[in-house]
Amino acid sequence: MSGLTNSRDTSLRERARVVVPGGMWGHMNAAALPEGYPQFFARGAGSRLWDVDGREFVDFMCSWGPIILGHRHPEVEEAARRQLDLGDCLNGPSEAMVELAELLVDIVPAADWAQFQKNGTDATTTAVTIARAGTRRRKILVARGAYHGAVPWCSPSLVGVTTEDRAHIILYDYNDVDSLERAVAEASGDLAGIVVSAFQHDYGKDQTLPTLAFAQAARALCDREDAALIVDDVRAGFRLNLGGSWETLGVKPDLSAWSKSIANGFALAAITGNDRFREATSSIFTTGSFWCSALSMAAGVATLNVLRRDDGVGHMTRLGQMLRDGLEALSVTHSLPIRQTGPVQMPMVLFDDDADHRKGFAFCAAALKQGVYFHPLHNMFLSVAHTTDDIARALDAADHGFKAARAMPAAHD
Ligand SMILES: *Cc1c(COP(=O)(O)O)cnc(C)c1O
Repeated sequence: MSGLTNSRDTSLRERARVVVPGGMWGHMNAAALPEGYPQFFARGAGSRLWDVDGREFVDFMCSWGPIILGHRHPEVEEAARRQLDLGDCLNGPSEAMVELAELLVDIVPAADWAQFQKNGTDATTTAVTIARAGTRRRKILVARGAYHGAVPWCSPSLVGVTTEDRAHIILYDYNDVDSLERAVAEASGDLAGIVVSAFQHDYGKDQTLPTLAFAQAARALCDREDAALIVDDVRAGFRLNLGGSWETLGVKPDLSAWSKSIANGFALAAITGNDRFREATSSIFTTGSFWCSALSMAAGVATLNVLRRDDGVGHMTRLGQMLRDGLEALSVTHSLPIRQTGPVQMPMVLFDDDADHRKGFAFCAAALKQGVYFHPLHNMFLSVAHTTDDIARALDAADHGFKAARAMPAAHD
């Protein structure tokens, strides 16, 4: 078993430490997770995940977002397999690219066109370039603490990043209209675009949905300044509203960045945009050796078709609500207050008086032993593969989690 010195996970970590700097990089480094969490996984199926030591988990991270229909969804796998038999990496895109762009334009009301990349960072970074090309201006507004990718203009770490990389980035506070207006004023006529997350989903913090006033102010400021409103829907995309997370607010972005769940785990990102930025988008030079991978595009078409046919958003909302209600009831039973914030499809569970995260870590470590994979500090994800039985198992594991968390001392900020 993982955590013991003779486990396959431990031995892989030891081998990785020799040939991979730090053993593992970025957000998937299991060193940041509670005791007992595996680093290495063997396989996934539906709502389940198996680590290299054969432990089975009900998965509430969904590969940190990409898995929206469940691991290895049969219709997506079939579409990918059919394309694999024909070829994945060719001298240009396959028919699937046109089909996928048509599908996105059909599904996303704000979209007149689509363009494709591999990772969410490609999409957000290219959207910024399009905004600058279209406006011939430089300043980009970004919310303090928001994640938009792992390249110098937006990386959460400043290690290896220069002041010049951030020279034209101005920060504002999410949902704070005054601070947004101040940032626009600071850009003083050089505003290319405002980047907004679909909702506030910063690491380790309570989640907040955008207020209508904030969303409308962002739109109005972009209209007034002739700048681009860029919604980063990379994480929330297709889980809140199939047509885009800000559709519910009635606020249409000029550009939207998508990735994560768009192809149920196959590597794909997209920008959708309106006609105002069509010309700018075709004027910039953007590309990547693997951006036209036919397999991912075929998987994307299958994923979006299944989500639309089966009302994926409705399913994830119902089961997410069931999980939230169950956790709330357990929190009352155990007299241990928690905060559950943001949309139920993307649960964030934080304990009160837990500045050192010991309660959250103890909760997750105990649930993991019961075969349920939660995260103590990052938002989690529901998928269409989750069943009421999975939620029951999750709540049973959470009961053990609350008992373990109760044993931890209170830690105030
Ligand atoms: C994950 C994420 C990105 C970056 O996507 P990658 O595929 O990891 O490059 C950008 N924005 C948000 C909101 C994300 O969650």
